[in-house]
Amino acid sequence: MKRIYLSVPHLGTEEEGFVREAFDSNQLSSVGPHLDEFEREMSSLIGLPAVALSSGTAAIHLGLRVLGVGRGDEVVAPTLTFVATVNPIRYLGAEPIFVDSERASWNLNPELLANLLRERAASNRLPRAVIVVHLYGRSADLDPILDICNRYEVPVLEDAAQSLGAIYKGKHVGSRGAVSAFSFNGNKVITTSGGGMLMAQRRDMVDKARFWSTQARDPGVAYEHSELGYNYRLSNVLAAIGRGQLRVLSERVRQRRAVFSRYCQTLADLPGVEPMPQPSWGFHTNWLSCFLIHRARFGATRDDVMSALAAENIESRPVWKPMHLQPLWRKAECLGGSVAEELFAEGICLPSSSSMTVAEQEKVVATIRAQCTRRTG
Ligand SMILES: *Cc1c(COP(=O)(O)O)cnc(C)c1O
Repeated sequence: MKRIYLSVPHLGTEEEGFVREAFDSNQLSSVGPHLDEFEREMSSLIGLPAVALSSGTAAIHLGLRVLGVGRGDEVVAPTLTFVATVNPIRYLGAEPIFVDSERASWNLNPELLANLLRERAASNRLPRAVIVVHLYGRSADLDPILDICNRYEVPVLEDAAQSLGAIYKGKHVGSRGAVSAFSFNGNKVITTSGGGMLMAQRRDMVDKARFWSTQARDPGVAYEHSELGYNYRLSNVLAAIGRGQLRVLSERVRQRRAVFSRYCQTLADLPGVEPMPQPSWGFHTNWLSCFLIHRARFGATRDDVMSALAAENIESRPVWKPMHLQPLWRKAECLGGSVAEELFAEGICLPSSSSMTVAEQEKVVATIRAQCTRRTG
């Protein structure tokens, strides 16, 4: 029984040629033409200067640092996300303030954010930055979020790690915040096997991040350092993979969207199965296909469905466990939280690879259907 995975890499036709070029020219380090080109191609797609890094987490870490986040600061982030969004807050000695999701997009709730910043401004304790996550390939409602943050002059970092290719009101996600982060981890829409990209409105911020990403070596021949750096640069070989992957990005997005709409069609008649929302403000890549399983109407729980899938050698996942429920973050402040808790309790991420066959998807659907003990009509 061949395993059906949640999300696997899906190569195009040009990656190998680019990688061979890197080998043939012996450019296997963190300098090289593919690295420059990969940054240039991402820049022209999103419309901002870019620096290629070893991971999305590194991009968030350096992004927060260029925004001035440091010891004793606070940074707002959605509670419903992957832990990599928020770990870099603590790398910098700062602490998160979590905010609940809105139902409309499962992303950061703009009203709760407005309340928080209003209260904090009144007591002169504004957070240093706000992180917005575009979850599962769906853009957050950026306009109200950016309006609120502009009013209080709090910079926004867009975590677009799960959402390269998604559009909000005609513009790519990751193009509006002061800083944004993308990931090319092996399970994202496109991959370099591991990698990330940091972008910023201000070129000097991108240059600063590039400087820190290669150990912050001061100009001159002596290895002199006046700032703390990291080894966070992407390699030329992995950038070569990324260039090939960028050429098939729109195809991969189309395929992921097709997977989601097939699930929607084939599960539509089951009571108590609710697809993740597709808010009309954006074009959503549907990186992962997620559904809520409402126990009373469906006649089985989300966990029953996950066990049945596992028995068929099919990988699935709950929707992210909210950060405010994590032992790691138990002391952090959280505004609201019940929406994220409900999404976590009922939400399931189904196999969503762009390379998944129709037959594989039919097997997933049949397994889910067999769990439903209620029938309408
Ligand atoms: C994957 C991911 C990251 C981190 O990216 P890596 O490249 O794996 O370090 C950050 N935020 C979110 C929301 C992610 O899904």
